[in-house]
Amino acid sequence: MNAFSSLGFGQRFQTLPPAFYRRVDPTPLPDPYPVAISRPLAAELGVAGESLLAADAVGVLSGSALRPDMRPVAAIYSGHQFGVYVPQLGDGRALLLGDTKAPDGRLMEWQIKGAGLTPFSRMGDGRAVLRSSIREFLCSEAMHHLGIPTTRALAIMGSDEPVYRETTETAAVVTRVAESFLRFGSFELFYHRGMHDEIRVLADYVIRHHYPACQEAANPYLALFAEVTRRTAELIAQWQAVGFCHGVMNSDNMSILGLTIDYGPFGFIDGFNAAHICNHSDHAGRYAYNQQPQIGLWNLHCLASALLPLVSEEELVAVLGTYRDTFEAAHLMRLRAKLGLTAEYEDDADLINSLFLTLHAHRTDFTIFFRRLAGFRQDDALNDPIRDLFVEREQFDAWARRYRERLAWEGSVDTERALQMNRVNPKYILRNYLAEAAIAKARDERDYSEIERLARCLEKPFDEQPEFEAYAGFPPEWAEEISVSCSS
Ligand code: AMP
Ligand code: MG
Ligand code: MG
Repeated sequence: MNAFSSLGFGQRFQTLPPAFYRRVDPTPLPDPYPVAISRPLAAELGVAGESLLAADAVGVLSGSALRPDMRPVAAIYSGHQFGVYVPQLGDGRALLLGDTKAPDGRLMEWQIKGAGLTPFSRMGDGRAVLRSSIREFLCSEAMHHLGIPTTRALAIMGSDEPVYRETTETAAVVTRVAESFLRFGSFELFYHRGMHDEIRVLADYVIRHHYPACQEAANPYLALFAEVTRRTAELIAQWQAVGFCHGVMNSDNMSILGLTIDYGPFGFIDGFNAAHICNHSDHAGRYAYNQQPQIGLWNLHCLASALLPLVSEEELVAVLGTYRDTFEAAHLMRLRAKLGLTAEYEDDADLINSLFLTLHAHRTDFTIFFRRLAGFRQDDALNDPIRDLFVEREQFDAWARRYRERLAWEGSVDTERALQMNRVNPKYILRNYLAEAAIAKARDERDYSEIERLARCLEKPFDEQPEFEAYAGFPPEWAEEISVSCSS
């Protein structure tokens, strides 16, 4: 057993007291085989991608062979699910194997997800299905390459073991990697149990390892909350700017580091609908696209409550009061960039708002619109390629007149602006139907090449990649019938 022989695994998380986790050995995935690996992440971790395909690595990453320096644990947490407090959650099917030091100096934690029951499995079976493992793998890596903070995915190991969801599927284990998987819910559990010492211990741990600059502040805990608030607002501004819907923004799925975490029923918007709901179990639309910014704030309220033993209510409320401005500034900055605007003009928010209303009214494809907008020519009265995306062309014309004036006001140069816009408006995103096609091939034909091909395309979402042109088109009609829910 010599997987990743160049690496040594540490157990920093276990410097926390035992109240924060339970020691659990994985339940091996029977007869595992590699389904996908992320070569870019392997490189960041200082591992050769190929080594993940070797039998010993497959054994470790499918839960059948532990290295002697691995002591897996399941972390405990709670959280608000769809607005309701659930007193005990935790890693129901994720095990932390340990951490390794990346060549850039960061300590990265490795988790295997789907490796069997833990004390926190509740009604679950401790397994993950191949379908959702492929979705998590593709999307975490795609988000990273879009420049959006996220947990990463290193590998998927598959097995023929049946797993029962709405239908019978097969099992898989995803290895995910992040500097920390701690969530808002990690704090909430100890607050609701009245275990205030543990809240302080956890906050000290998070500050020491992840927010060392907060140690200099008069009240480090207040500084920590301010920083988490800022990162959360900025993260959600990034989601909004690429049309990403998370789908299950429960407070246990909110990372204390401001990472995108827990890829379940997520989705990127195709035809723009501000009230788009990607999770078919979310009947009330609590986590609809246009609700995400305020849900981020709602979840920060949950975290603030859990920090009451460490910070005064007044101070916490004051920080919560900064969220909206931080979000709006970050959002406006990203939208200006999407429109290729470099200067700031007081009417910009209104210009953007009116664009969103028009996109919504026409259900214009969000990604294709922004990508095409880079080709806007100030001396072209029509701009047909963009105009043709709208049913009522005059509505676009009205907005385009404003946009043209706005560009002239800052002396924008078409060719330069196009280059800048193509650096922020992706050409390739993980549309649901693309993921579905890769899943179908894997499931029905045991052919994993489409996962690799799609992942390779999504490594360069802003580049023109002629060989992947087919991934940049409009979604087919059947895309609307794809249903993704919490069941994974
Ligand atoms: P999620 O909805 O993915 O955030 O999961 C909420 C809770 O359910 C967490 O405690 C998970 O660990 C647990 N959970 C989700 N799916 C499973 C499963 N298949 N087996 C065991 N626990 C699960
Ligand atoms: Mg979760
Ligand atoms: Mg989940």
